[in-house]
Amino acid sequence: MNIILLGPPGAGKGTQANLLVDNHGMKQLSTGDMLRAAVKAGTEVGLEAKAVMERGELVSDAIVSALIDDELAAMDADTGAIFDGFPRTPAQAATLEEILAKHDRKLDLVVELVVDEEALVDRVTGRFTCANCGEGYHDRHKQPEVEGVCDRCGSTEFKRRKDDTEETVRTRMKEYRAKTAPILPVYEPRGIVHRVDGMASIDDVTTAIEKVLASA
Ligand SMILES: [Zn+2]
Repeated sequence: MNIILLGPPGAGKGTQANLLVDNHGMKQLSTGDMLRAAVKAGTEVGLEAKAVMERGELVSDAIVSALIDDELAAMDADTGAIFDGFPRTPAQAATLEEILAKHDRKLDLVVELVVDEEALVDRVTGRFTCANCGEGYHDRHKQPEVEGVCDRCGSTEFKRRKDDTEETVRTRMKEYRAKTAPILPVYEPRGIVHRVDGMASIDDVTTAIEKVLASA
């Protein structure tokens, strides 16, 4: 099974990808992770990518393709791949099909974690955590029972992430739509695009993804 997992930051894509890795022994091929690993390992492609990034340029499709090619060559034939961050253009989508075919694989599914932008803004802008134990709270949905005191450990120190702002969420959503809009028309006609409600609980999202996998 080879799938593309789509979803904006905050949709829980990382959590669901990790669960697929744990529950199905799949391997996540994230463009960012692969680049960092190749640069660190000093492989031929890694050195090339490093030089490009040091010049402040974008890594070419050829480099990303070579990374995916290397990863697939090193994987067992029956280990499924989860693509994350690639493809982002119709040309890259075509390239991915070529690489997959080379390894006797095909793309089975495109799973998109759909979020409601307003609900995501509400979720992100109100959240804070206990600085001591990490318990999560929310201004509107989950205040500590005693104001200013963590329910779990009694700490009075809390923290908020600086980038948890409405502006950040909206910018990320805009970037996400710009990146996914071009590739969905490539896959929609084939009937392999499935949408899952990313605003549901982690367990419910996992269940929904499992259903999609079982149907393919
Ligand atoms: Zn605490």
